Amino acid sequence: MLRAIQFLGYSSGVVSSTLHRWKPHGRGGKLSLMSISTKSASTLTSGRVAVSLLLSDGSTVRGGCFGAFRTSATRSESNSDCSSSPSPATAFQSLAHINFCQWCGGPTKQAIPDGDERMRDVCQLCGKVAYQNPKMIVGCLVEHDGKVLLCKRNIPPSYGLWTLPAGYMEIGESAAEGAIRETSEETGADVELVSPFAQLDIPLIGQSYIIFRARMKKVHFSPGPESLDCQLFALDDIPFDSLAFSSMLVTLNMYIEDIKTGKPKFHYGIINKRPGTRPDDIHAYTLDHHMQS
Ligand SMILES: [Zn+2]
Repeated sequence: MLRAIQFLGYSSGVVSSTLHRWKPHGRGGKLSLMSISTKSASTLTSGRVAVSLLLSDGSTVRGGCFGAFRTSATRSESNSDCSSSPSPATAFQSLAHINFCQWCGGPTKQAIPDGDERMRDVCQLCGKVAYQNPKMIVGCLVEHDGKVLLCKRNIPPSYGLWTLPAGYMEIGESAAEGAIRETSEETGADVELVSPFAQLDIPLIGQSYIIFRARMKKVHFSPGPESLDCQLFALDDIPFDSLAFSSMLVTLNMYIEDIKTGKPKFHYGIINKRPGTRPDDIHAYTLDHHMQS
């Protein structure tokens, strides 16, 4: 289930200070520039740029062969520069504190643990550190007869809006298992995965999406408790004016562009939600470091 995603300032949202490690499929595989558009009054800035990724071990990868671009789907082109994105440190500082230890119930205190470099909530009784890390959200882009399966949300946030079936990955399951489970819960469809399609990070709110292409083992679907409706949509009929989340807008646009130009690829990108914008404004983002293979 996915009960609360992509809310700016959402108190349990947590933030990663470094970009995810990126390993393109196949060494030397060419990652090319892709154009993308939204069906709203969007703007597009693109360019082949040098990509430098900071890895978790502090090293960097410079992607000379990466075609990266940034899509701005904001309503104001003047706000589409990188300076509008929060720094990781700024986003990290906005985290809500965990006041009591989840293991022993003792009070916590802000401190920098040995060997660390950030302030954490540390239990004053047992000494354990309440780390806050990003959450993984997994889901499926279910294809059938040139259409994709969407469900209309029956729960907040974004009640009544359309989304791909997706939700939080559970402890004990893989991303693939979670995506199949969420699809079953929200659409009643029994699916098998075709391929990974996209990983999208949203650093500001500490979320990372993995979306798989999938197909129904048997063509059957019906809304689960968290969905008001489920429908297969032809690509020209996708309800872009009533999608639930930026991540779904980005995913569906990538997919449509892939279908237009040939075969679906694998995409990585960072959705930088624009601070200060309304949480339900799904167009208030920039798509940065978009790579595809
Ligand atoms: Zn404790």
